[in-house]
Amino acid sequence: MEQMTTNDQPEVNYETLLSVIKKSGKEFDLDLIRHAYDFAAAAHSGQMRLSGEPYIVHPISVACIVVELGMDSESIAAALLHDVVEDTGTTLAQIQKEFGPSITELIDGLTKISRIAYSDREEEQAENIRKMLIAMADDIRVIIIKLADRLHNMRTMQFQPPQKQRDKSLESMEVFAPIAHRLGIEAVKEELEDLSLRYLDPIAYDEIEKALAEKGENGLQFIEQIKEDIRERVSKTIPDVYIEGRVKSINGIYRKMFVQGRNFDEIFDVYAVRIIVDTVNDCYNVLGIIHDMLTPLPNRFKDYIYTPKPNMYQSLHTTVIGRMGIPFEVQIRTWNLHYMAEYGIAAHWKYKLGLSKEDSFEKRLAWIRQMLEAQNDSEDSTDIVRNIKTDLAQEEVFVFTPHGDVINLPVGATVIDFAYSIHSAIGNKMIGAKVDNRIVPIDYEVKTGDIVEIVTTKDPNHGPNRDWLNIVKTSGARNKIRLWFKKERREENIAQGRDAFEKELQRNGISFTQEELAGLLENVLKKHSCSDMDDFYSAIGYGGIQLWKVIPRLRDEYAKLKKAVSPEELAAQLSQNQQKTKTHAKGGVLIDGMDNCLIKFSRCCNPLPGDDIIGFVTRGFGVSIHKRDCPNVPRDLSAAAEPERWVRAHWDTDVRESYQSTLEITAEDRDGLLMDITQQIFNMHLMMHALNSRVTRDGKAVVYVDIVVNGQDHLRSVIQKLSSIRGILSVKRS
Ligand code: MN
Repeated sequence: MEQMTTNDQPEVNYETLLSVIKKSGKEFDLDLIRHAYDFAAAAHSGQMRLSGEPYIVHPISVACIVVELGMDSESIAAALLHDVVEDTGTTLAQIQKEFGPSITELIDGLTKISRIAYSDREEEQAENIRKMLIAMADDIRVIIIKLADRLHNMRTMQFQPPQKQRDKSLESMEVFAPIAHRLGIEAVKEELEDLSLRYLDPIAYDEIEKALAEKGENGLQFIEQIKEDIRERVSKTIPDVYIEGRVKSINGIYRKMFVQGRNFDEIFDVYAVRIIVDTVNDCYNVLGIIHDMLTPLPNRFKDYIYTPKPNMYQSLHTTVIGRMGIPFEVQIRTWNLHYMAEYGIAAHWKYKLGLSKEDSFEKRLAWIRQMLEAQNDSEDSTDIVRNIKTDLAQEEVFVFTPHGDVINLPVGATVIDFAYSIHSAIGNKMIGAKVDNRIVPIDYEVKTGDIVEIVTTKDPNHGPNRDWLNIVKTSGARNKIRLWFKKERREENIAQGRDAFEKELQRNGISFTQEELAGLLENVLKKHSCSDMDDFYSAIGYGGIQLWKVIPRLRDEYAKLKKAVSPEELAAQLSQNQQKTKTHAKGGVLIDGMDNCLIKFSRCCNPLPGDDIIGFVTRGFGVSIHKRDCPNVPRDLSAAAEPERWVRAHWDTDVRESYQSTLEITAEDRDGLLMDITQQIFNMHLMMHALNSRVTRDGKAVVYVDIVVNGQDHLRSVIQKLSSIRGILSVKRS
C-alpha cells in the first residue's frame, strides 16, 4: 500500500480529513464526523504534541488512516474522539450523551484501563491488551482504529524520548504488527515493522537502507525490465493484467540477514513482482507462463490459493531467476485476493453485510476467542502478551491428518502440539505418533507435508507427562497440559507447589507466620481466583502462578516489616555471638559467630558454592555474601571504612540449597530468542529474577539472566541446556 497519510504535509487540519474522505469516493455521515471533530478539537484545545503541533493533528491523522482502511462513519468519529477520555477531562458518560452507545463502546475499548491497580508495567501492558482484545472480539472496529492510532504514533516517534521510542517500537513489533498480520492487514503490518526496526536496531536499519540505495538505480531498471518482459508474454494470453514491482520491506530483509544469517547479496526476495489478474484460473495460467519463460528456484513455489495461510492470505508465490542471474519473487493473485491481502479483515468488515464469505471472516476472528479462552485458564494476565508473541509472530508449517485435513502449526511444533491442536482428549491420551507411517519420537518437530497420526490409549487413567511442558511449542498445547494437571493431579500439585514456595521463601530469608502470610497473599489469591492456600499451592504446582512474579512483592513486604531491626542490633548480636562455634545459616552458608541470621547473596557477584566468600553486615537485613574477589569487597579489610561489618563466611557443603547466578548468553539475534530462553528456564523449573538484553553492533544479542541454581554442577547442566537453543553461541557465568 502506498504511504497512507500525510504526516509530511505542513498542516493537518479538518480539510485534510475531508479531502481523504473525498478521495475514497464513498458516502459518509459528514454531520456525525463534523460533530466528533468539533467535540474533540474543543476537548484537546490547548494541548500540544511533542512535535509542537496542536494535539488534534493526531486524532485527525488517525481518522485519515481509518478512512483509508475502508472503515465507516462511526469508526471515523471514534478515531477523532479516541483520546478524549484518556487524555482530557471528558467522561464516557459525556460521550454517551453526545454520540450514543455504539461510539461510546468503541471509545471505551480504545481507552486504557486506569493505571492505579497495577504495580508493574508488564502487567499493565498485558491488561490493556487483554481489554482491547475483549473489546475487539465484540467489535472488530476497535482494533482497526487502535492499529491506525499506533501507526500514526510510530510515524511521529522521532519526537519522543529514546526510552519511549524503544518501548513503543518493541510493543509494536511484538504485539501490534503480529495482530495486524493475523488480521491480514499486511500494509499496516509492514509499515509498523519497518518503523519499529528503525528504533530497535538503528545500525542495521541504516545498513540495509544504504545497501538498497546502492542498488537503487540498477534495481529500478531491473524491475522495470522484468515487468516489461512479463507484460509482453502474459498479455498475449491474458490482456487484462496488472503488474507492479517493488522492493520488499526493510524488516523482511532484516530478518533474512540477521535471523537466517544471509548476506544482503544472497537475499532472493529484495525484489518482488506482483501480478494481478481477474480470475483464479488466470493465476495458474500466469504461473505456467512465468515458469516457462524464467527458471524457477526449486522448492520456492507456494500455493497459498489452494492452502491459504492461517490469516487467510491467498496468492501464488514463486521465485525465479531473471536477467543477470538475479532471483526475485513473483506473487500472483486476483484483485479480490489482492484487496484481502492488503486490507485483510478491514476489507472483510466492509463487505460484512454483502458479498463476503462469512466463514473466512469468522476464521480470522477465531484466534482472538481462542486466545481469550486460553487466557481464562492461565490465570496470569501477562501470558496473553507471551501468547501473542509465540503464536502470532511465527512462520507456519502445514501438516496433514490421515484423513487429509490440513493443520497449521508454528515452525518447531512437535507431534504433541499436533495432537493437542486436534483435540485435548487426543493429546491427553497420546502414547506415540507416526509420521508418514513411521513411529517418531515424541519430540519430533513436524514439517510441511508430513502426514501425522497420533497413537492413543484407551486407558482412562492415562494423561500427559509433565516433561511435555518442556517439549511443546504452542501455548495452546501448554495450556491444555497444565489444565489436565490442574484438574487431575491436585494433591500432587499442592505438595509440589507448597514445597517450591517454602523453598523460595527460605532462600530469600523470609519467614512469616501463617497469619502474616495469609494477610499478605490475600490480594494475590484474589487475583488468581484461589479460594484458599491449597488453591494457591496447587496453582504454583501446575504452573498457573509463577513464583518469580510473587516472591519480589513478598520480599518487599518483608523488608518493610523487618525494617524495625536496626543495624546496631544486628552488630550487637554479632559481637555477642562472636565466640560461638559455626552454625548453620539459611542459604547454606556458615557465618563465624552468628546464629540464625539472615543471609542474602549479593547481586554484584552472585557467589556459588566453592567460591571464596565473605559476609557483610548490612544496614537492615542480615548479612550479604560476596565473593572474596568481588570489586565491592575491599582488598584490605582492616583499612575498610567499617571493618567490623565484614565477617568470615564459609559454605556448608552438607546443605543443598539454591544460589543466584548471572549468565551471559550470546546469540544470533532473532525473533523469539528471549521467549525461547525464558521458556527453557521455566521448563527447567529455575527461578528467574531478572532478564536484560541488548544487541551488539554486529547484530548479536547479549542476554543477561539471573537464575537460581543448586551449585556448580547444576549450573553446568543449565548452561548445557541453554546452549542447545537455536542460535545460541555461548553461555557463560558473568
Ligand atoms: Mn492516540
